[in-house]
Amino acid sequence: MRKKNRLSFSAVSIENKNEQKIEHKMLEKRRPIKSSTYQYSKFGKRQKGGRHPFSRGSQYKSLSEGKIPPLENGKIRIIPLGGVEEIGKNMTAVEIGDDIIIIDAGMHFSNEETPGVDYVIPNTTYLEERKDKIRALLITHGHLDHIGGVPIVLSRIGNPPVYSRNMSVLLMKKRQAEFPHLPPLRAEVVKKDETIMCGKTKVRFFGVTHTIPDAMGIIIETDKGWIVTPGDYKLDQIDGVVSKEEEQEYSIFDKAKVLLLMTDSTNIENEGFALPEIKVHQGLENLLRKINGRIIIAAFASHITRLTHVVKVAEALGKKIVIDGRSMKTNMEVAIEAGYFKPKKGTIIPIEEVNNYPPNKVVILMTGSQGEEFAALSRAANKSHAKFEIKKGDTIILSASIVPGNERAVDRIKDNLTRQGVKIISYRTPGEDFVHATGHGNKEDIKWLHRKTHPKFFIPIHGNHYRLELHKGLAMELGMPEKNIVVPDNGSIIEISADGQKIELRKEKAPSAPMMVDGLAISDVQDIVIRDRQMLAQDGMFVIIALIDQNTRKLKKSPDLISRGFVYLKENQELLRQVRIIIKKSVEDASAKIRPIDFDYIKNNLGETVSKFLYQKTAKRPLVIPVVLGI
Ligand SMILES: [Zn+2]
Ligand SMILES: [Zn+2]
Repeated sequence: MRKKNRLSFSAVSIENKNEQKIEHKMLEKRRPIKSSTYQYSKFGKRQKGGRHPFSRGSQYKSLSEGKIPPLENGKIRIIPLGGVEEIGKNMTAVEIGDDIIIIDAGMHFSNEETPGVDYVIPNTTYLEERKDKIRALLITHGHLDHIGGVPIVLSRIGNPPVYSRNMSVLLMKKRQAEFPHLPPLRAEVVKKDETIMCGKTKVRFFGVTHTIPDAMGIIIETDKGWIVTPGDYKLDQIDGVVSKEEEQEYSIFDKAKVLLLMTDSTNIENEGFALPEIKVHQGLENLLRKINGRIIIAAFASHITRLTHVVKVAEALGKKIVIDGRSMKTNMEVAIEAGYFKPKKGTIIPIEEVNNYPPNKVVILMTGSQGEEFAALSRAANKSHAKFEIKKGDTIILSASIVPGNERAVDRIKDNLTRQGVKIISYRTPGEDFVHATGHGNKEDIKWLHRKTHPKFFIPIHGNHYRLELHKGLAMELGMPEKNIVVPDNGSIIEISADGQKIELRKEKAPSAPMMVDGLAISDVQDIVIRDRQMLAQDGMFVIIALIDQNTRKLKKSPDLISRGFVYLKENQELLRQVRIIIKKSVEDASAKIRPIDFDYIKNNLGETVSKFLYQKTAKRPLVIPVVLGI
């Protein structure tokens, strides 16, 4: 960890191993871990809200060490380790007697809080400390927010066996192949109505409807009743009438004693039932029949059910299919490998052959519905796609909703496409057929699930805190007493009493700082790297290179100054002149004081002084990197 920080410094610096010797009040306050960069902070402006996600790591580390008591006889412990202060990186541990069973191990991609990080996974410390109790990892379905963390999580918790249905296992194998240095995946395929033993604990499954085939719910049997989670689901229904197949799947709960339900809160704000996927299938089919030109469909690669349906329809209509975008190709390969569908030879053609067919005989499936910079659709829209050109008369169907935060990128793409004379149909286009539906149940789906499973206790999961609270409100509306509901944070330790009559939140917490995967480094304490990246993004950097004559203790020459993203140096000559004077004074005063010369002291002093000065002059807080060399 901190490799990038070190690299940027050591590339131009003498060694700095004694850095921590020198005490600086400001440094101490702002930076718990040593760093070689400086930033002025007068009001602590950057410590927003006191709950910076990356200031938590060390704090909880000390809490976890030995302080969480072992599970008492007869109690059941539930620990949501991810997915409850956010949407993404789902993982929940269930501890019963000598067994720990883990449900899902997801990831989410970095966002504005974690610039430059590849992705983020749940904290595994609690599990690492109890490796010998872990019996299994159960995966509800193959989406990345449920399987993305699997390779790294497994390698940290003793590589326990993994159970899931066919397609999810195939997708996990594909992902595992990207980590050849890690132990191989020990995955077993289960059927949706199978029962397995995880240690002494009996676990069974049931099928659920989602946007990917082979999604399943999980039932953990205990002597107090069942612990149930459906994973991501929506109901297969039309106008509120749930299909026979769906009723059949859930009929196992009719006579069951459900102790605890844990379920998805993503769409708790949406009224009614979620639009059934069948309507989207029909909508897309209508469009495929109706449009008499080339059709480009941009969709989430994760919506495998929909993508395979489009291929089937296109094939039936005598059209060829191009699949463009790595994740989409991979997912379609897996769908074929899983035997989920079988296109005829020649239906799927390489993108190079797209111009060999008349426009109304080709459908192109692309990634990039969110305006992602390097996805196929973006490259096509800004004419940087090496193998494909948008043509006037093409129709582009955006078969996806816009994930919050992506609005501007999507608008930009739509503008670029419209300029090239194409027609765009999105899920918002009035008067058009349905081209997208969510994969998560809306309020009515959620109510139906609560009624169907009639649990004693309830923990809302899969959503940010606000949504979890709304979900709690819904459960109470349906008649559950408040004391039977716990709204968790990541790392909350929730216990059900030995007599099965009480659910309680413990005051201790499992470590929950997200673990950042940054290149090959995995860590929950990369706060310095992340903070440096945030500072660089906001106020740029300022590098000072000063040479001291070790005999005279004076500067050998005027210091070199390099800045990026801070101020344009050429236009700020006066500022530079003043900085040079300050640097000279700071360095020479500091070097005169101590014998022999203490370079770390000089550097720290210089960093502090210059960052403060720059803030006073410019109201900016660039990352200041002082480099002091003796000759
Ligand atoms: Zn999902
Ligand atoms: Zn999910």
